[in-house]
Amino acid sequence: MRLLLIEDEINIARPILLALRAAGHEVRHAADLENARVQLAEAEPDLMLLDVRLPESEDGGFILAREARASGYKGLILFLTARDTSSDRVLGLDDGGDDYVVKPFDLLELMARVRALLRRVSEAKTNRIRYAALELDWAGRTVLWHNKTVDLSAREYALLERFVRTPQRVFTPEELTDSVWGDEASSVGVVKVYVHYLRSKLDSSVIRTVPGGYRFGLELS
Ligand code: CA
Repeated sequence: MRLLLIEDEINIARPILLALRAAGHEVRHAADLENARVQLAEAEPDLMLLDVRLPESEDGGFILAREARASGYKGLILFLTARDTSSDRVLGLDDGGDDYVVKPFDLLELMARVRALLRRVSEAKTNRIRYAALELDWAGRTVLWHNKTVDLSAREYALLERFVRTPQRVFTPEELTDSVWGDEASSVGVVKVYVHYLRSKLDSSVIRTVPGGYRFGLELS
């Protein structure tokens, strides 16, 4: 797995890096917020181990976590925090953290937490879902239709995944525009065009037009 350790105290960072690398992970290290931003953008880690107090700010870890989530980071975040107050814990988890350990921590305990978190990643990575003749693999972002790979553009895939994740929901064109295109959409008309693309690449039954918008059209098999 790809990991990023953000920790300014080298005496804490070094044994963690050694242990994680010994466990077979590809681990990068950043010692301040500025470098962490660069490494995060380059590495797209599965898990960040994120110290809260960084040279630039007492809340550096929380700031980075918020930024990362806002820019679409989907990996896990484990906070390393010297503070042990409940409000800070809650704040950390609200900022997009998945777990935290309080310093000083035992290295074996930290490694156990990392393993537990990474199990979630590997489960999600092998996650495949099948609806009738349609099969999606979240990890590889691949789509099979009648056991044949269908080439979808990133937007087509994102739109299809939006439907598949909540197959019972009716989506308005506005919602779909917001979640798939965000600020880049010129108009909600783009949804109609992409629904047409998906129907022609797969089958017209995959996405149904219903009162109020669109709905996924296949049944779980
Ligand atoms: Ca620190």
